[in-house]
Amino acid sequence: MQASGLEASLVVGGALGGIAIAFLCARLRRFGSATAAAANHFRAAIEQAPQGVLIADATTLRILSANRAAQRSSGYSLRELRGLRVPQLLTDDTQDPDALVAKLRAADARSLISMRQRCKDGSLLDVDVAANHVTSDAREVLAITMSDVTLRRKIESQLLEKQQHLDHLAHHDQLTGLPNRHYLAAHLPEAIADARRTGSSLAVLFLDLDRFKHINDSRGHEVGDQLLKTVAQRIRSTVRTEDVVVRMGGDEFIVVLKNVKTPKLVNDTAVRINEALAAPVVVDGRPLVTTVSIGVSLYPRDGTDMGELLRRSDTAMYQAKDRGRNNFQLFSPVMDHKLKERIAVEASLRAAIEQQQLDVHYQPIIDIESHRVMGLEALLRWKHPMHGFVAPGRFIRVAEETGLIVPIGEFVLDRVMQDAATWRQMGWSLVPVAVNISAVQLQRSDLPGTIRKLLHRHGLKPGMLQVELTESAVFEHREARSGESSEDAISKLRQLGVRIAIDDFGTGYSSLSYLKRWRVDFVKIDRSFVRDLVTDMSDLAIVGAIIAMARHLNIQVIAEGIEGWQQLEKLRQLHCDQAQGFLFSKPLPAAQCRRFLSEVPLDLTEDELFQSLDATGSYGR
Ligand code: C2E
Ligand code: MG
Ligand code: MG
Repeated sequence: MQASGLEASLVVGGALGGIAIAFLCARLRRFGSATAAAANHFRAAIEQAPQGVLIADATTLRILSANRAAQRSSGYSLRELRGLRVPQLLTDDTQDPDALVAKLRAADARSLISMRQRCKDGSLLDVDVAANHVTSDAREVLAITMSDVTLRRKIESQLLEKQQHLDHLAHHDQLTGLPNRHYLAAHLPEAIADARRTGSSLAVLFLDLDRFKHINDSRGHEVGDQLLKTVAQRIRSTVRTEDVVVRMGGDEFIVVLKNVKTPKLVNDTAVRINEALAAPVVVDGRPLVTTVSIGVSLYPRDGTDMGELLRRSDTAMYQAKDRGRNNFQLFSPVMDHKLKERIAVEASLRAAIEQQQLDVHYQPIIDIESHRVMGLEALLRWKHPMHGFVAPGRFIRVAEETGLIVPIGEFVLDRVMQDAATWRQMGWSLVPVAVNISAVQLQRSDLPGTIRKLLHRHGLKPGMLQVELTESAVFEHREARSGESSEDAISKLRQLGVRIAIDDFGTGYSSLSYLKRWRVDFVKIDRSFVRDLVTDMSDLAIVGAIIAMARHLNIQVIAEGIEGWQQLEKLRQLHCDQAQGFLFSKPLPAAQCRRFLSEVPLDLTEDELFQSLDATGSYGR
């Protein structure tokens, strides 16, 4: 490297020397009047100069004389050179002899012209040429010096190539070959400036693959990489050449659509991307299905600089995730508000964990025939220092999205077992406790391992615990064909002796065949079907059908949200097994569960009934 640098500087020095010699040639005339000896020295200097020197007729450009270096580098003898015209020896990129002649005639000794020297053997040398008009013996001649810069050019072009390669690496993603975030940081402000100048619109699409992390974790990084490559190609193929597709990192991509004349273009592109990704990607002979959530912001409507446009497309993307993924959403200012609220909830939820503001309440589950308490459902409560009790509906989702549900879930399990151990110590009769488990806990933590450890720590048997999973926790991942981890966790829980309930049944996939396959113990009919059971014939039909089929599969049915005696009576007639609702009790703190933990059937007085109905929608006491 050092040697070639040195060579390069010598060659550069040589080229500058070419200008010096051209100057010398220009002064030849003045030396003509000097002494003959001085003129001889001068001729010898030119004859032996390291640069090629040609003297040509200024009109015809026929070569009249050439020094040794010119003969050596061209491979022609002096006689042969004298038979040539300059354009036969020198050429330039234009390959146009007339243009070359014009250039030479216009040249002066102070500037260098990049040319090629044609050698006798057909090879070409890169030369820097200086030309100067000289009058000698009353004849106008052209003194031309040629410095061989082939090596320098080669080094320069290698350096340029290296630089371009480095630039490419710095601005492109190695895995997919797409431009990366650095490219976007340089390009998007330019595109925005163009749009401002031309008064046009542009769209920024923020794409995030749905459940990519799960695929990566369960199928391995190589499969994940393969999937990303295919996804990148498919996205690229759906947009126009002038549009930019960038991989931001992980499973996030940005598409910049330029010159957006109508919203239809954005709409059509987003639909095309969703469709392009819908076909399964086959990796290692196994199909993978991935979908994408897309958020869109528009210049100038939603923002006028890069940061704002990216932030808002990101916000819209989260909205798309919230809306069940595999769709796209245009940014709207309402989203910003929601985002702020979510960020606030997240921050105070973190504080809630640290400051022990979380608690667990219990609601009894009753046998419909005997009114005996068959179990308790543990329900999370957040006692906020300023807002009072915050309903789980307002924070479970944020907890899931941020992963906070994992420590929160462990807190709930630990608290439930602690309470059960205390009840046992007090001599109360224990019933199984059902704990709600989110899909995120199933995927991101070793739930069976955690439960085993906690049961051991509190000296409890697995039979005291039931887990409630929503249908989506179990089924969505089967849809993605990569749901082994949820399935594995469920079967490990079963092996451990923990019983499984499917929560909110009827609101999702409602596939009874899967229930059988996983040998689910309970289904809990969602409150929305129970609410109007007495008046709505179709709800009655649905609930009746669920109970009949579940009984056939030997699965027990629990109805949620019983608030009135008539509902309870209808469920009894339909042979529903168990019921849960304010009719029996609101969820209560552990210390007030004495009544639930005795062999005595739970009976309600008129007074209690009135109280329970009155308390709808409120928490605790
Ligand atoms: P879920 O598991 O379906 O729980 C039943 C919900 O219905 C509870 O709401 C309960 O208070 C309410 N409920 C019970 N009986 C009645 C009734 O007669 N009328 C009415 N209107 N409501 C009744 P809650 O406690 O607000 O919980 C809401 C959801 O939050 C739960 O639905 C569950 O999906 C989730 N959740 C609660 N605790 C946890 C937890 O520890 N972990 C996780 N992952 N999710 C939890
Ligand atoms: Mg539940
Ligand atoms: Mg439920």
